[in-house]
Amino acid sequence: MIDIDFKAEAEALAAQLTAWRRDFHANPELGFEVHRTAGVVARALSELGCEVRTGVGQSGVVGLLTGGKPGPTVMLRADMDALPIQEISDAPYCSRVPGVMHACGHDGHVAMGLGAATLLARHAQDLPGQVLLVFQPAEEGMGGARAMIEDGALADPQPAAAFGLHLWNTMPLGRVVAQAGPIMAAADVLKITIRGKGGHGALPHEAVDAIAVAGQVLSALQTIVSRNVDPQETAVLTIGTIHAGTAFNVIAETVEMQGTIRTFSATVRETVLTRLKVLLDGVTAGMGARYELEIQDVTSAVINDAAMAEIARAVAVQTAGATNVVWQPPFMVSEDFSEFANRVPACFMLLGSGNPALGLNAPHHNPRFDFDEDALPTGAALLAAAAARFLAERRPHAAGS
Ligand SMILES: [Zn+2]
Ligand SMILES: [Zn+2]
Repeated sequence: MIDIDFKAEAEALAAQLTAWRRDFHANPELGFEVHRTAGVVARALSELGCEVRTGVGQSGVVGLLTGGKPGPTVMLRADMDALPIQEISDAPYCSRVPGVMHACGHDGHVAMGLGAATLLARHAQDLPGQVLLVFQPAEEGMGGARAMIEDGALADPQPAAAFGLHLWNTMPLGRVVAQAGPIMAAADVLKITIRGKGGHGALPHEAVDAIAVAGQVLSALQTIVSRNVDPQETAVLTIGTIHAGTAFNVIAETVEMQGTIRTFSATVRETVLTRLKVLLDGVTAGMGARYELEIQDVTSAVINDAAMAEIARAVAVQTAGATNVVWQPPFMVSEDFSEFANRVPACFMLLGSGNPALGLNAPHHNPRFDFDEDALPTGAALLAAAAARFLAERRPHAAGS
């Protein structure tokens, strides 16, 4: 199994991978509404001989490829959803849906997932175990992974390992990150409402100016990361929106702010949340205002398992070449692959897809986002090879054979 040249087989599949990717790119779908994409996936998986479950977590698809020999189950995950962004592109495969585009590369993830399934299906007779192919909706902050898990995606059969990957446009084409430990951050969304007392702009002493309070709150919150978090640790607290006020001569009664917290460790997250409340209590009380705070825990950090990262690294070296396998400081963005990684030993890889010479290096979530499709065969091979290697290493009586 370990000797199969998945890279060469994936290269031969390049035209099909590109065709899949362009079809998904031209027909993007949001959140849980990925019905067309899921339909294409389900049909392709059935044709490959997988047992297919649809509607898992509303619109997710789970394919089960059974090998010719007994063994454990390994899971591969691809996410299917696009973003509410109007695409700016001259490409023939440009989005046909106004205001919706694949700006994160999930179109490529679906194509690579189907590619990996195709490669593994060809070698199904030799596979010592099962491959669970999980195609997930609603990755972009909407809880698609949780929805699929609650709907039994990991129940029957239960995978013993999971692998996934994300195309990464700010890394050059062909680079691979496959490392143990944290790779993507936990994300919380916070909403703060400051309540003062409205009044005439010329009579501030009769009012409680929510905007003045918000200004102090904002300054105070910026001390959490700089003064309360251990400098050796990592955290981000960003306030992204502030809304208040109706007229130049009216003191605003309320201010609404929204923001996000990104952390890798649960202790640091706790520190940030605790300080956030303490500072809000102190500043608002001191200025005669009140506040409401809502914290929505969107997703936890993606922490790669050491043994699974070892497998991913080995196949990355084989597939992309040792010089292309690099260490990367963890990213502060988040990914709900963490939901799977919290339950199953897992490794989430990053695959460089940027090509500045072709203008294919716009960042993720940008209206000009597009990636180099030469990354697709590498990605399909990485996923297939990781699954095959896990099964080969864990097959019954593997020791000494
Ligand atoms: Zn994204
Ligand atoms: Zn993404």
